[in-house]
Amino acid sequence: MPTETTRRVYLLAHPAGHSLSPVMHNAAFRDAGIDAYYEAWDIPPEQLAHAVTRLREPRVLGANVTIPHKQTVMPHVDELTEAARHIGAINTIVNRGGNLLGHNTDAAGYWRALEQAGVNVRGQNVLVLGAGGAARAVVYALLQAGATLSLSNRTPQKARDLAAAFTALGETTVLTSQAALHDAAKQAALIVNTTSVGMAHGGVDPDVSPLPVDVLPDAGFVSDIVYRPAQTRLLREAAQKSLGTQNGLPMLVYQGAESFRLWTLEPPDTGVMFRAANAVLEAES
Ligand code: NAP
Repeated sequence: MPTETTRRVYLLAHPAGHSLSPVMHNAAFRDAGIDAYYEAWDIPPEQLAHAVTRLREPRVLGANVTIPHKQTVMPHVDELTEAARHIGAINTIVNRGGNLLGHNTDAAGYWRALEQAGVNVRGQNVLVLGAGGAARAVVYALLQAGATLSLSNRTPQKARDLAAAFTALGETTVLTSQAALHDAAKQAALIVNTTSVGMAHGGVDPDVSPLPVDVLPDAGFVSDIVYRPAQTRLLREAAQKSLGTQNGLPMLVYQGAESFRLWTLEPPDTGVMFRAANAVLEAES
């Protein structure tokens, strides 16, 4: 248990209930012999500014930031990395002597997850489904890696806005018809679901796919950043067609590993983080 001298890391969230980050990071701190403790804070929006002030205390290494604060927290930190500025959201804050640096490690986490799966997107057609907060980090990572993107979202204007924000990094075609979506899917070397469709939450039926099975390509890779359930319907149908698949757990672990490295200046053992997260997910299922 934490003592007076234990360094602290907080998760700023609202609600804070189901995050895997506390178990993942506390297991990694223990494994590395670092006297630090990660704790989720349920912070309603009106208390965000005060919560960020507390991150400047000497015993605090930093924080993670998640829904609904990833964008609204930005004016409260002192500096932003280029990735955070480009993506327009912060998921990690580092306290360096009272100065708060805002980072976004979701993009690096996604990129490392793809690398671990042996997927090289340079010069490849990639279809991204969704244009929410997570999509911005995924699009940033894919454009930086040299992919050519097609983007489809239930609300097309959000896809247009996202594409416009990243024009300096590469080409993104916004798909506005079902026919164009189906063509893009058939031609994609990689399909990425960044929507919450297929996620088990709040009584919503998780057994739905954001893409009809008959438009999946005959070869290639499908990545779903959802990790509850471990195998979404999209991934199940892709696996049945012998496509490569990966769920959202590697992205979650690797974004966490990068945050851990920024707070402690040491890389964690990601095997420890995977085991801690999987233990919780298996107990839930
Ligand atoms: P968000 O900002 O709320 O965006 C949600 C996205 O899902 C939007 O594109 C939205 O479309 C779409 N969507 C929601 N319901 C839909 C429906 N019924 N039909 C079609 N599209 C629908 O959420 P987010 O932060 O980007 O998170 C999205 C998912 O990624 C969540 O499942 C989250 O758990 C997961 N995630 C995973 C990681 C990881 O590390 N693996 C990290 C971050 C997020 P509209 O724009 O039309 O509303």
